[in-house]
Amino acid sequence: MAPLAAITGNDASEIIVKAPVGSGKTTLLEVLACYTVAEKPGPALFVSQTEGDSKDWFDSGLLPCLQGCDLIKPLWPKDRHKVTKGAILFPHMPLWVAGANLSSLQSKSCDLVVLDEAWMLKKSLLQEARRRTHDRFNSKVVLVSQGGSSGEDFENACEDAALYEFSFVCPSCSTRQPWRWGNLKWEGEESPHYQCQGSLGEGLCGHRWDDNPIDRRAMASSGEYVFISKGKAGHVCFTYNALAVWFIPWAKLRDEWNTANAAKKRGDLAPLKQFLQKRLAQAWTELEELEAVPINTGGYLLGTSEQWDLTILTVDVQKNNFWYVVRTWNRAGESRLLDRGQFLHFHEIEAKREQWNIHRKAVFLDSAYRVEEVKAALAKYGWLGLNGRGEDSFPVTDRRGNKFRRIYSVPVDYKTTEGLARVTNYSSAGAKDILQILKQGNGTLWEVPSDVGQQYLDSLNSEIKKQTAKGMSWVQIKDHNHYFDLEAMQIIGATMHKLYPLLTNQQDEEAA
Ligand SMILES: [Zn+2]
Repeated sequence: MAPLAAITGNDASEIIVKAPVGSGKTTLLEVLACYTVAEKPGPALFVSQTEGDSKDWFDSGLLPCLQGCDLIKPLWPKDRHKVTKGAILFPHMPLWVAGANLSSLQSKSCDLVVLDEAWMLKKSLLQEARRRTHDRFNSKVVLVSQGGSSGEDFENACEDAALYEFSFVCPSCSTRQPWRWGNLKWEGEESPHYQCQGSLGEGLCGHRWDDNPIDRRAMASSGEYVFISKGKAGHVCFTYNALAVWFIPWAKLRDEWNTANAAKKRGDLAPLKQFLQKRLAQAWTELEELEAVPINTGGYLLGTSEQWDLTILTVDVQKNNFWYVVRTWNRAGESRLLDRGQFLHFHEIEAKREQWNIHRKAVFLDSAYRVEEVKAALAKYGWLGLNGRGEDSFPVTDRRGNKFRRIYSVPVDYKTTEGLARVTNYSSAGAKDILQILKQGNGTLWEVPSDVGQQYLDSLNSEIKKQTAKGMSWVQIKDHNHYFDLEAMQIIGATMHKLYPLLTNQQDEEAA
């Protein structure tokens, strides 16, 4: 196996295996650990993303694997205290297993540092891991991961490396080629098939593999890593995508792809991001830097439209006043702006709610400022609080005990003198990403009246997404961003009321 040969050989100092989830990456790490202890001893550090992950892997993966290896039997430490959670102190070498944090990385000097799921590494930890092997002859850094995000440390490391891609040979045209997602075809057919894009004679080869284990395995068994592009000396990256993993049915991948693209049409990019990173082992590139987009208005005037299935009032709390947006939604996730403007007092919010006959639980206040006052008002009037945060998603457990992540958190209740106030955190950037797609007209119908006013339109273009020191971020470019925030809060409110069908609730697959 080429990656293992590179890791155990003398030519490469940094080896990357970029592969889909569920394709045996963990097995590779276990084989590597056994090989190192038996054949190429030297201080070795295996890093998982969290202390919890590393403990689980130590107990259920690494330890049984090492214990089952005959070559290692005579090498075990006699003193059982030398096998602890997180370390095995063999007489001839230490082997550490730790979480990805500065303290576990800084304290050790190693011949081999292995980073699992390296795409999740916090900034500069990769550099710290490389430092562990400095000045050691023939030392190695190994990164094993799914796809990450462009511009982040892991993907930069991939770009620096010489690329080798797992490739099969077509029996008809003899072309050796990597698996490409675009060559999976299913138009007008029940099952997908893979079509060779090699040339044969004058035209396209078009050799066909059907979606069954025999055909998929036949392709994979002809596979070899093929050099694709050059990189820095000693840096190599081996990659393949889920099409090359013969035991994953292509129909399953096609269904995930279709679901992800349906979500994209609604403005939710999260499932597509997951598919590209986890299945195709590709880097995710954030939305390109976006300039102000013209917003299409028209078809009706402020305050004249009928109301649809649910009308939501969102309120931005400022030091001396409030801004508000009233938008009505239907069950298809379509929406229409009805009203917008300013208040000076909390009781005016309640009056606006009554004017539009809005349900109390469809009134959302931004609760980042004047926190105690807002909580008291939430409790008094029965409205809900929203708090925009920097996280992409929040952990949730459903009634059946399934754990997953979604764009807003489990609500938290606060005691106030007026009773309980309920506040939910949400991903500010996630909501703005969706709003961006809606306002460009690329998502579900999202309407604005023709007389909405320039202040509203300017506010909707008050932030742009651009490359910053922290990666792609929303940056404010104009003073008045209240309506922009309020429309982002509308999307969260509609999602909480199940009107906006966000698919970010996908269960994270077990990384393997
Ligand atoms: Zn062919």
